[in-house]
Amino acid sequence: MRSTSADVIVLGGGLTGLSLAAALGSAGVEVAVLEQEDWQELLSAPYDGRVTAIARGPQLFLDAIGAWRDMAGAAEPIRDIVVHEAGSPVRVCYEGREIDGKPLGWIVENRAIRRALFERVTRLPTVRLQSRAQVLAIEREATAATVTLAGGERLRGALLAVCEGRLSATRERLGIPARRFPYRQTAIVCTLAHEKPHRGLAIERFFPDGPFALLPMQGHRSSIVWALEQQRAEAVCLLEDAAFLAEVAERFGDHLGEIALEGPRWHYPLVLVMAERYTDHRVVLVGDTARGIHPIAGQGWNLALRDVAALAETLVDRLRLGLDPGDPLALATYESWRRFDSLVLVAVTDGINRLFANEQWWLGLVRNFGLLVVEQLPPLKRLFMRHAMGLLGELPRTMRGEPL
Ligand SMILES: Cc1cc2nc3c(=O)[nH]c(=O)nc-3n(C[C@H](O)[C@H](O)[C@H](O)COP(=O)(O)OP(=O)(O)OC[C@H]3O[C@@H](n4cnc5c(N)ncnc54)[C@H](O)[C@@H]3O)c2cc1C
Repeated sequence: MRSTSADVIVLGGGLTGLSLAAALGSAGVEVAVLEQEDWQELLSAPYDGRVTAIARGPQLFLDAIGAWRDMAGAAEPIRDIVVHEAGSPVRVCYEGREIDGKPLGWIVENRAIRRALFERVTRLPTVRLQSRAQVLAIEREATAATVTLAGGERLRGALLAVCEGRLSATRERLGIPARRFPYRQTAIVCTLAHEKPHRGLAIERFFPDGPFALLPMQGHRSSIVWALEQQRAEAVCLLEDAAFLAEVAERFGDHLGEIALEGPRWHYPLVLVMAERYTDHRVVLVGDTARGIHPIAGQGWNLALRDVAALAETLVDRLRLGLDPGDPLALATYESWRRFDSLVLVAVTDGINRLFANEQWWLGLVRNFGLLVVEQLPPLKRLFMRHAMGLLGELPRTMRGEPL
């Protein structure tokens, strides 16, 4: 039976697991990433039709760990964002020039992010990637955790970082409770090709049956994220292309000229998941495993990257001092650093969805009054912008543009 060891064992090689491996590996930490799927499948074009809005702070982090240069060529800058409720003249316009004229964020296709992270980690000599890994058992002793894989291999590490997404089996296996709140909504995602340029404008429009976002992609293309009540989403997914495009045009008007579908329509059932704690003996939960939020504000992976950056800084600092990266002090530092930010984002995204997906007339007044106040108070608007850009709060140094 083969036995190996690493400083950190990362369970799950999704966007979060790969970025953690890239961060730790770029600082020379020994990392083993165990992914249940086949890499070639994960990297293939049909795997994920989504795009991700990457905010300024997380972009600085990706740059600091050497992953941004491989995805920069696929990134489209977001210059301005307009938020409003359908049928109301009140709107909030976030303009990049109100901050410093630089992009508010970037839109990158998930497949380009995944490939860039994958390529970054394969260049790092201290990172070992293993796909089709099936975990049979996890044992934890005083100073280490040992993972036994199907096939008999045993891997020992000072810390186990669980990055398995919302439905993490390891979180359950380790007895860390997580609360689930299904939104009874499904997000339909697809790419539109359009006649006119989008000029870097992202639009979030709220309808009583769910939010609809249009995100600028490279070329004359935009990605749609359209959340609808489950049954309605199923019906919309079954529409012929022409009828589907007519529904889209009805919601968005004709400012982009002629539109056409590029590729398939994808659908993602939405559920809020919150783990009761983010750490356990020799274990940390990272990204969607710690909490998976509504995509309404495009913040899920940005939040995950703040986990990754905080965790990487905590572990690297300890290792540089010759300290144990998985001891209770390291876990407590991570847990306390990440809990408040997480709770804020859970409350904000859940609250916005509840507030806007509601037809009570008086809530309409509250919504429009709120949007009006934000639009009329530039300092408040700038505060919201800086928060959405990931530039506020107790930021890890990599998110302030410093090296790890
Ligand atoms: C419609 C939609 C739009 C979104 N848009 C945005 C956006 O614009 N901006 C943003 O910041 N966020 C966005 N998000 C959120 C973002 O997609 C997630 O936060 C992100 O994908 C989470 O990545 P993850 O690696 O933590 O989890 P996952 O993507 O779920 O990856 C988990 C990985 O772990 C592997 N795995 C699972 N179990 C095991 C196991 N037992 N052993 C080994 N491997 C395992 C899986 O195969 C997978 O590769 C959006 C989400 C949705 C649904």
